Amino acid sequence: MRKLLILSGKGGTGKTTLASNFINFSQARVFADCDVEAPNLHLISMVKNVKNRENYYGLDKSFINQDICINCGLCKDSCKFNAISFENNQYTIVKNLCEGCGVCNYVCPVKAIDFVKSIDGEIMLYEEDKIFSTAKLNMGSGNSGLLVTKVKQQIQDYIKPNDFVIYDGPPGIGCPVIASMSGVDLILLVAEPSKSGISDLKRIIKTANSFKLKIAVCINKYDLNKELTKEIIDFVHTNKYDFVGKIGYHDEIIKSINEGRFLSNNSMAYKEVKKVFDNTIKLIL
Ligand code: SF4
Ligand code: SF4
Repeated sequence: MRKLLILSGKGGTGKTTLASNFINFSQARVFADCDVEAPNLHLISMVKNVKNRENYYGLDKSFINQDICINCGLCKDSCKFNAISFENNQYTIVKNLCEGCGVCNYVCPVKAIDFVKSIDGEIMLYEEDKIFSTAKLNMGSGNSGLLVTKVKQQIQDYIKPNDFVIYDGPPGIGCPVIASMSGVDLILLVAEPSKSGISDLKRIIKTANSFKLKIAVCINKYDLNKELTKEIIDFVHTNKYDFVGKIGYHDEIIKSINEGRFLSNNSMAYKEVKKVFDNTIKLIL
């Protein structure tokens, strides 16, 4: 089996457009959306039948037992996440800010603080003739790296030796990105020709390099800045990564996203994305 992860240093670069159309081109049987903070591959995916849906529990959150609390304020003074408020003469935990570190519990002189399980999101497995794993993190919830790992784990048993597996990765370079990188054969980075896009590209390459992963690069919306496009291509060649193509800014891409469909196969956008796909496939098969 071969596993391709599509990433970008930031959101909005067209990563999901590539992932969904790659799934279409390859007729991939197993795929996953690892962008748990803003999942949207399900909007385009053809798999609609949810086989399993379950809560995702992240770190336990603290709560204050008001019957025991003596209002000393030590917990609030010790919390580095400003997750404890004092209102109406009462200390309470602000759930969305609590990281479950346990310091408040440690300092409380009367042991008024305990922990409860917290639902931090939802994880779904879609199954028809294709298998699709995805999840969504609740607002303000952390530990998204663990959720990405779970998204990948739940399709693991479905993967057959001949499968070409596609993961739509999260943006940035944080924990979820690192979790998405484990076990993949190739990372396709989608870059944008802007100063911030180039900076983001270099950061994500540095992250991927620390795991010694094979890297390919493509550029989306290249025609918005041809000078910076050239700068990216030069950078990629100089550093001996594989450059697999460029895609222009096309209304068809926006329309296909809004209509929840794949690119129309007589469009220029289709031809350009297909070329990137063909070049990428050569590196992984
Ligand atoms: S568990 Fe940690 S983050 Fe949560 S309220 Fe207590 S000290 Fe703050
Ligand atoms: S440290 Fe314990 S007793 Fe003091 S305010 Fe916090 S919960 Fe109440």
